[in-house]
Amino acid sequence: MSVAGSSDVNDELAKTQWDVVVTGLGPVGTTLCSLLGKYGLRILGVDREKSIYTLPRAGHVDHTVLRTFEEIGCLDELLAEMIPNRGMELLNGNHDVLARIPTIRRTPSNLPPSMHLHQPVLERLLRENAERIEGVTLRNSMRLVSFEPTGGLQRVALEHEGRTFSVTTRFLVGCDGASSVTRNVAGLGFRDYGFAESWVVIDLILKEIPESLRRDTTFVADPKRPYAMIEMPGMRYRFEFMVLPGESVASVVKESTVLRLISKWLHPHQVQKVERAIVYTFRGAQAEHWRRGSVAIAGDAAHLTPPFLGQGLCSGVRDAANLAWKIAFVLSGRLPESILDTYGIERGPHVDNVITTSIEIARNLCMLDETAAQERDRQMLQSGLPEEKRIRFKLGELRTGPLIMPSGGMYAARPVSASKKTDSSLDRKFVILARSETALSSKASINWWRALGSEIQILDALDEAAAELDAWLQRLRGNVAVIRPDKYVLGCEKELDDITRYVQSNLN
Ligand SMILES: Cc1cc2nc3c(=O)[nH]c(=O)nc-3n(C[C@H](O)[C@H](O)[C@H](O)COP(=O)(O)OP(=O)(O)OC[C@H]3O[C@@H](n4cnc5c(N)ncnc54)[C@H](O)[C@@H]3O)c2cc1C
Repeated sequence: MSVAGSSDVNDELAKTQWDVVVTGLGPVGTTLCSLLGKYGLRILGVDREKSIYTLPRAGHVDHTVLRTFEEIGCLDELLAEMIPNRGMELLNGNHDVLARIPTIRRTPSNLPPSMHLHQPVLERLLRENAERIEGVTLRNSMRLVSFEPTGGLQRVALEHEGRTFSVTTRFLVGCDGASSVTRNVAGLGFRDYGFAESWVVIDLILKEIPESLRRDTTFVADPKRPYAMIEMPGMRYRFEFMVLPGESVASVVKESTVLRLISKWLHPHQVQKVERAIVYTFRGAQAEHWRRGSVAIAGDAAHLTPPFLGQGLCSGVRDAANLAWKIAFVLSGRLPESILDTYGIERGPHVDNVITTSIEIARNLCMLDETAAQERDRQMLQSGLPEEKRIRFKLGELRTGPLIMPSGGMYAARPVSASKKTDSSLDRKFVILARSETALSSKASINWWRALGSEIQILDALDEAAAELDAWLQRLRGNVAVIRPDKYVLGCEKELDDITRYVQSNLN
């Protein structure tokens, strides 16, 4: 019996011509591997670390992310490990409510609006899921060193156990986090939003959850020391405290300091374990370019968001959903390479909305000057606006562009039968929803969409969910909508011809 050494294994990787190499197997890279693998592509995902990152960071995901997890096939497993988010409140030092972001009751995807999670569990389940998908190969302890174009492909240099070897791929995506090598080698730039504040993040495992702990997500803008309290699944609870000027990182992560900081709510005997206390500097940044040729970036490699809206990872998963179908349609020759230009055009402004709103919350929260904080309280409390309207956050729509009509850009209602929980036959396709046969207009239009592998659904031929979708189309003032594979509405018009003409003119 011969046992393959690491160089034999690497020879195998080097011999294969990959469709896509994904560098970085955090939650975004792993999700992207799964999405691409489901298109039947040959995917190599590599991560420089020996195993998944075991310390918690993200604590929250929204329904758009859950819909992507459903598509890659692990939603039920993940939901079983999550708890619902009960909404967010921003309080001042006297605990007056300055602003509230309630959880929305109903989502277009009919999935829970907002859930709390433990990131290491999420990463483990995402990894196990990706490994089950045929065509997806994942490797740890393999670091991206550099890459260069060669004969229409990318030659990617990887380092494994001290040796460097190369693989070739048709497309490379860097999901390699905030200090992305991919972003730097491709020269994609990183624009800083000029916000940076350090906070100590404390994750606790408790023996009991006492009444003194708030169950909703609470930010307290106390100028003496701003802090946050977040309920996590199981017996976990998170506190975040701003690091004050002059305090050292070493002093705030000491167990004695941690226990002092949380002593208002918890006695040491209620704490089973301080899982970790770590200082993060929260920043806002976005890549200047999201793609160059056959190299793109996604997730923290493309943007950083202060975590006060719990949206960094969510944006990264939306990047993966936006990019995966475009790569798959281009590599299969169904759509021209120019559609890849829409990746940054669409994702950039969407992410910008999330970053700027997070920074607005952060600036309100991180005020240490007593007078400025009193003025903030006065303005917010006397604004005459209800608490829900004092900070507005709505996940933006995609802006009009080559693949988004002025009548589109919103997240689509779920075109499935109400009796079935999901309909995976609609994934990875354009779905054309028409209120009647006449809205489909010309045969040429229908054939064009069919050649792309699209699914056409006439609502009056569907079951009980049809009425709901019909009402949704009426609200959009259209007879027919085209929903893209990433679940955004491309356009909603009177006739399919209108949508076909728009797309075709932008593709030529
Ligand atoms: C305290 C805190 C709280 C947060 N809360 C939330 C929240 O509630 N909700 C939310 O949506 N987001 C939240 N975020 C943000 C979220 O954690 C990140 O946006 C998310 O982890 C980014 O995922 P990623 O896969 O893009 O990058 P990462 O998770 O950073 O993964 C990058 C991967 O790339 C690998 N890598 C790096 N360089 C190389 C290389 N050269 N070669 C190969 N591999 C490489 C790394 O080992 C790593 O595994 C929070 C962040 C923090 C710090």
